[in-house]
Amino acid sequence: MDRLDPGICLTIATVPDVTAIAVSILASLRPTFFILADATIRQQKCPNRSQDDIKATLFLMLIRDLLASREPSISFEFFPPKTDEAAAQLQATIGELRALYPTFVSVTWGAGGSTRDKTIDIVSHIKRDTGIEAMAHLTCVGSSRADLTAILKHLTDAGVSNILALRGDPPKGETNFQPVADGLRHGSELVEFIRGSHGSRVSLGAAAYPECHVECPDPAADLQNLKRKVDAGADFLITQLFYDNGYYWDFVERARAAGITVPIIPGIMPISNINQVGRFGAKLPPALETELGHLRNDPQAVQHLGVAHATSQCVELLHRGAPGIHFYTLNRSTITRAIYSALRIQGLVPSH
Ligand SMILES: Cc1cc2nc3c(=O)[nH]c(=O)nc-3n(C[C@H](O)[C@H](O)[C@H](O)COP(=O)(O)OP(=O)(O)OC[C@H]3O[C@@H](n4cnc5c(N)ncnc54)[C@H](O)[C@@H]3O)c2cc1C
Repeated sequence: MDRLDPGICLTIATVPDVTAIAVSILASLRPTFFILADATIRQQKCPNRSQDDIKATLFLMLIRDLLASREPSISFEFFPPKTDEAAAQLQATIGELRALYPTFVSVTWGAGGSTRDKTIDIVSHIKRDTGIEAMAHLTCVGSSRADLTAILKHLTDAGVSNILALRGDPPKGETNFQPVADGLRHGSELVEFIRGSHGSRVSLGAAAYPECHVECPDPAADLQNLKRKVDAGADFLITQLFYDNGYYWDFVERARAAGITVPIIPGIMPISNINQVGRFGAKLPPALETELGHLRNDPQAVQHLGVAHATSQCVELLHRGAPGIHFYTLNRSTITRAIYSALRIQGLVPSH
């Protein structure tokens, strides 16, 4: 259990009511991490308590506290699988990436709320059964305020206390986002809505766009809109993927100048095939574009170059002081693990 170095690791038993109070007091010691005596250990020590009873007492860990106490933050993003085969693949991926002790993982909210129950199920399963802190993405698409209230109750009842609050994309074929009747129009409104109902009991993240959001032609206006999300209560930001770190650093500088002080976690998605390039509006550095052009008919070589480039991005980001890396994993572990190993060799992430 003393796998975190350097730092202070506090292990506490999970006892209803007492755990939350103990953690809030001990948090003032700024430990690197809390480890709650897990279900198995507790079971051995206390055979009369049922597994469900023990799991129900697992403490709600807030990502804003994890970010404040442990750098760099390493997080992995998954999406809800559509088939049984894909579900098995995700399960295997979670098992493999668990060995890297991520700060947290997150699960996306499907377009139009299509994965609502799956997202909640996967997040609560990860949290309950693997001990990894998990965050649910949530969008405004297709949900009225009453719907959002019901979803938030479902999430918090399932033990989810970390939410990435998003507006979501307009449905396919539409360019303008139209909220449903009594729905919300902007990411900042969702942040405000959740803060209003849940206060500091939840930790909220929001999305940031180093190359500007696709609907906003003016970077200064986009930054002001981002600031609205932070002013409304976002604790941290996760960026859209980018291939050129220059955009990230320039964006961080502009955000700091605009008074945005929360952690801005860079989102990295290694290029795994040539068709992926350009899908999220991220520009390629000219030299990378040239190299990809040479390799475009060799899918394996493209993938290797993608790993090499993402690794060099992560090394530079962490060396220069980025607060962590959020990996868009596409529900696979091999590439992420390879990059993590390279970061470990450089001493940029903990060895466990
Ligand atoms: C890390 C990350 C995770 C994501 N996860 C998901 C997911 O799980 N599911 C999903 O469907 N999508 C996801 N997305 C995509 C996201 O939903 C889209 O990019 C969406 O178009 C914008 O969402 P937002 O929360 O950034 O919106 P907003 O912050 O509302 O911004 C959207 C646009 O509106 C403008 N704007 C914002 N506020 C105002 C205002 N007050 N007045 C005028 N204009 C304003 C902004 O400049 C921007 O152009 C994710 C994106 C990122 C970066």
